[in-house]
Amino acid sequence: MSKTYRLGVLDGDGIGPEIVPASVEIATAAAEASGVSLDWLPLPLGADAINTHGTPVPDETKKTLAELDGWYLGPHDSVSYPEPHKSALNPSGTLRKHFQLFANIRPAKSFPGAKAVCDKADLVIVRENTEGFYADRNTFAGTGEFMPTENTAIMMGIITREATERVARVAFELARSRRKKLTIVHKANVLKLTTGLFKSVCLEVAKEYPDVAVDDFHIDAMTVHLVRRAQDFDVIVTENMFGDILSDLAGEISGSLGTAPSINASADRAMAQASHGSAPDIAGQNIANPVAMILSGAMLFEWLSARHDDPALAQVARIVEAGVTATIKSGVSTRDLGGSASTSEFTEAVVKAIGDDAGRN
Ligand code: ATP
Repeated sequence: MSKTYRLGVLDGDGIGPEIVPASVEIATAAAEASGVSLDWLPLPLGADAINTHGTPVPDETKKTLAELDGWYLGPHDSVSYPEPHKSALNPSGTLRKHFQLFANIRPAKSFPGAKAVCDKADLVIVRENTEGFYADRNTFAGTGEFMPTENTAIMMGIITREATERVARVAFELARSRRKKLTIVHKANVLKLTTGLFKSVCLEVAKEYPDVAVDDFHIDAMTVHLVRRAQDFDVIVTENMFGDILSDLAGEISGSLGTAPSINASADRAMAQASHGSAPDIAGQNIANPVAMILSGAMLFEWLSARHDDPALAQVARIVEAGVTATIKSGVSTRDLGGSASTSEFTEAVVKAIGDDAGRN
């Protein structure tokens, strides 16, 4: 009998309870079409969990996630949490740190038929996720940000050989499976020791991948290159903060932030998480674009396929992607992409496209 994959469902805040169930519905349809058995487990997280469990990431959520094959994480609106939760490490940071999900993989790909600044972009940003200049997660205990006086704030950035090497390997492996081009992004002319170490360790790892062409740019120059010629880039590897900013830019120029997916992975665990936030300005209106979350789920199935050596899971990913592409191409999209479909109308259209495709095969 084939394995039943167990996946967690964490709706999160804002538009999360709209886009996460939509993504689960679409993945369920694709799994049925591929003969894959899935067991979805809803778990408490975010503002609702503060009300029911007194914390945005309850221990039972972490304990259950540790036993699952992967999970869908909706966005969180942690700036609206009451103290002390508002000042604490946010839910996605907590899960990334707890499970050491060191690689944040964020593709930016234009969709045929959707408006975009660059309609030929097809790149992936691999962002180091555990250290760098994000002071909320770069220390074992406490944070790397502190105020010695009321008017002085100090921030600490950390780059280590170990974390750089492991994320560089993920990026080179990915480049090897794609167009065999990798760009290292840093600021080694100013942050000489920290991002200089990041650059030199990536270049050392490059020697293990002679088939991958490598170049590198300073982060500021890279923003210009991305806007001018995003189509020339394949895999980009960078530290935490540069990767966070660069991936929002890449997501927006290749379509909309609402289409930018991502996964956070370690060697043995992965979490699907859209690149965008909880969009409180449009929450509860059934107008959010679910594509980023749907495609984050597809990335998780692709990752699970490689991990379990199960081609049926890669088939789920392909069916989900094809359903989304066909739906947008047919003129059905949410308003951020220039269309007029609601979240639920778009979701229904993708489920129908998957059903029609399964009927033809
Ligand atoms: P965070 O700091 O949590 O990443 P943010 O402050 O960067 O969040 P978002 O919540 O990502 O902001 O929203 C930025 C803008 O993009 C908002 O105007 C929001 O409505 C829009 N947006 C984000 N996600 C979507 C989506 N899925 N569909 C449509 N619009 C979206």
